Amino acid sequence: MPRSECLFCKIAAGQIPADVVHDGERVLAFRDISPQAPVHVLVIPKEHIASLAEAADGHGEILAEILLLARDLALAEGIAESGFRTVINAGRDGGQSVDHLHLHLLGGRSLRWPPG
Ligand code: 5GP
Ligand code: ZN
Repeated sequence: MPRSECLFCKIAAGQIPADVVHDGERVLAFRDISPQAPVHVLVIPKEHIASLAEAADGHGEILAEILLLARDLALAEGIAESGFRTVINAGRDGGQSVDHLHLHLLGGRSLRWPPG
């Protein structure tokens, strides 16, 4: 799929609307369209990285930024104390449905383990 057709690239470019909670220079966070918990935010790099499996060693800084933003958003969303989960699905067996790296931030209810 060409990058110009990538759903999350389009959201990052403002071509498709999203409920944005953080718009940084290199990362974007927005609410999931089909929330699986009271808080369900997606954090993405604005740069197209197809999946964690496709990330390069040079992406270390942006991956750290995504994780630290998830920490900040957990605080802002009021789930830092009650607890939360961060998930990066990768590939078919990992359940990745959008081929642009994204981290799920989930919280606001008790989350079961192990996942299905
Ligand atoms: P994955 O299954 O790839 O780990 O997660 C993709 C997520 O993107 C799903 O939770 C899905 O609900 C969400 N999603 C798919 N399309 C859209 C969209 O157009 N807008 C938003 N905000 N979320 C989307
Ligand atoms: Zn993309």
